[in-house]
Amino acid sequence: MHNLLVTALLWTLLWVMQANLTERNMLESDLRKAISQNQLELYYQPQVGDDGRIVGAEALLRWEHPVKGMVSPADFIPLAEQTGLIMPIGHWVLGAACAQLMAWSNNPATAQLRIAVNVSALQFKEPNYVSQVISVLERSNVNPSLLTLELTESMLVNDVNDIITKMNALKSKGVCVSLDDFGTGYSSLNYLKKLPLDQIKIDQSFVRDMLTDEDDVTIVRTVIDLAHGMRLHVIAEGVETQAHRQFLADLGCHSFQGYLLSKPVPIGDFETILLAHNTAAAT
Ligand code: C2E
Ligand code: MG
Ligand code: MG
Ligand code: MG
Repeated sequence: MHNLLVTALLWTLLWVMQANLTERNMLESDLRKAISQNQLELYYQPQVGDDGRIVGAEALLRWEHPVKGMVSPADFIPLAEQTGLIMPIGHWVLGAACAQLMAWSNNPATAQLRIAVNVSALQFKEPNYVSQVISVLERSNVNPSLLTLELTESMLVNDVNDIITKMNALKSKGVCVSLDDFGTGYSSLNYLKKLPLDQIKIDQSFVRDMLTDEDDVTIVRTVIDLAHGMRLHVIAEGVETQAHRQFLADLGCHSFQGYLLSKPVPIGDFETILLAHNTAAAT
């Protein structure tokens, strides 16, 4: 009787594992198609400066799956990284963001807007990553100083000297480098000192409960002070309420991104928000 139960359990387990594997394989082959069949899209989430004007946007990847609908990057970026598909996807993202910068460059209302693009640690590790970025910038004829690359602390498992060399090469072209999700990963103050960063981005997990949690306030305040001391630009993500925004501004945070202003939206909606918002901010 006991044996029978164990056997049944094992079979169930095997079946579940097999089903998961099949599901994963299907998602992988779908993701492969997504690139060639134009199912990927960039959404844009506004970033505002301390005067309240929209100064740019973070480009966030969306996958419109033909059957499943919108698949979240949290669900497919890890798979893309495991399968190496992050390389062509990351390349597509950069190209699409630069094409957008180019499209904005002829209109005075949009010519100064910046775009921040997320870069996977695996992409950044590629030996020719810097030349790839530069050639995309040149091909699209875009001012490199309008592009920000958001890197995460997870890249620090790789050779730090190589990271520094690459950052400096990008910076010499004018590209800005930001450390995303700051404080959630592997970084130490030692790295912060060594890396030639332009910006740090306070992770939303610290912002969320900042108004009620003493520890979060301390972390946020310390990160902002650190940024000031190191002459880095500091931006907060996950700014959901006016109270968040005011509190961060009082601490000296330079820019803000979050649902307070807008969720990430398709480009047409972003331009509508931009027009309404910056016109209002100017009057
Ligand atoms: P991230 O780079 O930290 O992006 C911020 C995430 O927080 C986005 O989720 C955004 O929609 C969400 N968010 C923004 N404001 C708020 C807010 O006020 N409240 C809350 N609760 N959430 C907010 P999203 O778009 O689902 O992206 C998740 C993650 O996927 C990103 O985190 C980034 O790590 C990754 N990702 C997105 N696009 C790309 C990409 O093109 N390449 C790579 N490598 N990763 C990407
Ligand atoms: Mg980001
Ligand atoms: Mg982030
Ligand atoms: Mg984050």
